[in-house]
Amino acid sequence: AAREYIFMVRSKLPGGRLTAAQYLAHDEIATHHGNGTLRITTRQGIQFHGVVKGHLRDTIRELNHALVTTFGACGDVVRNVMCCPAPTDNPKRLAVQRFADVLCAETLPKTKAYHQIWVDGQAIVADEEDPLYGATYLPRKFKVAIAFAGDNCMDIFTNDAGLIALFDEDGALAGFNVIAGGGMGVTHNKESTFARLADMVGFVTPGHAVEVIKAIVTVHRDFGDRTDRKHARLKYVLHEWGVEKFRQELQSRVTFPIEPPREMPTFVVDDHLGWNQHGPDAWSLGLPIDSGRIADVGDQRVRTGIREVVSRFVGEVQLTAQQNILLSGIRSADREAVEAVLDAHGIVTVGRISGLRRNSLACPAMPTCGLAISEAERVLPRVLGELDQVLEDVGLPGHPIVFRMTGCPNGCARPYVAEVALVGRSLDKYMLYLGGDVAGTRLARPFLDLVPLGSVARTLKPLFERYRDQRREAEDFGDFCDRLGLDTLKAIVAEATAA
Ligand code: SF4
Repeated sequence: AAREYIFMVRSKLPGGRLTAAQYLAHDEIATHHGNGTLRITTRQGIQFHGVVKGHLRDTIRELNHALVTTFGACGDVVRNVMCCPAPTDNPKRLAVQRFADVLCAETLPKTKAYHQIWVDGQAIVADEEDPLYGATYLPRKFKVAIAFAGDNCMDIFTNDAGLIALFDEDGALAGFNVIAGGGMGVTHNKESTFARLADMVGFVTPGHAVEVIKAIVTVHRDFGDRTDRKHARLKYVLHEWGVEKFRQELQSRVTFPIEPPREMPTFVVDDHLGWNQHGPDAWSLGLPIDSGRIADVGDQRVRTGIREVVSRFVGEVQLTAQQNILLSGIRSADREAVEAVLDAHGIVTVGRISGLRRNSLACPAMPTCGLAISEAERVLPRVLGELDQVLEDVGLPGHPIVFRMTGCPNGCARPYVAEVALVGRSLDKYMLYLGGDVAGTRLARPFLDLVPLGSVARTLKPLFERYRDQRREAEDFGDFCDRLGLDTLKAIVAEATAA
């Protein structure tokens, strides 16, 4: 029999925003191509898994007909530009969200090959050299995000470069703090690779925001390590140079002043779930989607239910960096009907899930990611169930903890900034990380290696008990772990194991 090759196709959606019609086009494509599911990515795109080779061109063409592209969603270029997707009728916040579109357009490769191969089907003609990427493109992928000061729903510090919007007291957009040098990817047993949070490198006015990001891209283009792909991300340049040298290099590439970073409010994370009003008669409903997988499974017909709500009641759809979906533009009079449709399809809303589940992420891992060495998405429900049971047993039912899981150290679900994370090591064994913070501003640290999946809940139980008894007022679990330190935490686990 002929061998079938399957692929993943990923749409690029700046700021995770799409019209109802574009969402329905994705849904329709999932009916004809791939494994019948849609998957919201941690970078606000949508993936189709299991697309057989013979369906690739139709899948991409049909997306293009819906005015959506996959161009730049993969490859050594600026990937999907992320932005806080919360629906709003505030024109100043909308203006910030539109920067994601502008940045995506400005950093799109100029090659015509994509359309010639995938859309038009015409013969290839030679391209001119790309003005941003040159002849050899970037040493590695490049991730950009935009956040509002005070809300880190973007995990902004995990990006190669980012903009944090700051407003004056009168509500006008003052400009952006600029960050650079974040990244999650790690290679096991290779010490020259590590997760890193981005540094604050300066402040620019709104008119210079696009140019400063493009200038950062050129620093990566010119100084990123082209001899070793595992050491090629911009974060290693920042690490080796330090912020000051990087800032000087950046300043030399732009004609406007890069000012010192401005003070910002403390970050929290708003996941934008539940009902939120965003206009006089406009509401958004944020739905939690486990691992971002929109599928019909048994009584939980999530894909069908969302399709019905979107086609009947919704104006726009937004995807969050937490792999959840916001259905917006819903009229007040339709709220009850929307809830009835969701209920009829077994779709759970945010009030009915634990804090752990609400704050969980998992990458696809097996069977669709060729790099996976362990399970993630498929075992997440089981792991969450076990951890929720332990939390209940120790008297912390439903407690919120930022929990993330990946099938390899590439870190697509951003495990290294979680309070608790599992990173695949070999088949059912994981590296257990602890101590990131809820706001995504501190790295977690490796706590125990080669932990069998079946032992995770048992390992964490004594730590949850100690947290229950000794936490300070309003202290989160990650902060508690960070305060006690890894040696103390290890001693607590060892004592419990010996007992
Ligand atoms: Fe694949 Fe690893 Fe990314 Fe998971 S973290 S999707 S296993 S590359």
